[in-house]
Amino acid sequence: MKFCSHCASPVTVKVPADDSRERHVCESCGMIHYFNPRNVVGTIPVYGDQVLLCKRAIEPRYGYWTLPAGFMELGESTSAGAVRETLEEAGAVVEIGPLYSLLNVAHAEQVHLFYLARMHSPTFNAGEESLEVALFDEGNIPWDEIAFPTVKQTLEWFFADRAAGVFSQSDEFSVRARDILPSEKI
Ligand code: ZN
Repeated sequence: MKFCSHCASPVTVKVPADDSRERHVCESCGMIHYFNPRNVVGTIPVYGDQVLLCKRAIEPRYGYWTLPAGFMELGESTSAGAVRETLEEAGAVVEIGPLYSLLNVAHAEQVHLFYLARMHSPTFNAGEESLEVALFDEGNIPWDEIAFPTVKQTLEWFFADRAAGVFSQSDEFSVRARDILPSEKI
């Protein structure tokens, strides 16, 4: 940020009084502009034994496979955003389930959240941000062509938990969570 979004004067980067971090401060109107991490919300759409993935039609990671996910919009809940992104990117209507994974991607200033979701029919189509959408058995997941470490980690957790019977035993399970390191890229 170079100019104040409130009064259009140049901003200065400095630590305001009573703060411990550098902020963009407007010397003219006094406004302090805060920047905070953004939430990326998505689903693990399950149909039978299969999981729905989207092949990205946009950068970053054009041509790589991902779970449907995107930036949360103002005024919506994380689960509503996940449902919306699943419809927009994969053309799939899902019954949203519990939150399953939470991944801090501090170096990208993002938090990624994935919900379990159920598809009641194998109905889907590629939205504008997808080249292709397809259902995959665990054995056919294109592990070397997964777009992001948060998606790869979520899929790894999902298949391991499913094999261990975590989902069939009860609705109560802990949200899987970890930090993604800068070396893992995004
Ligand atoms: Zn200002």
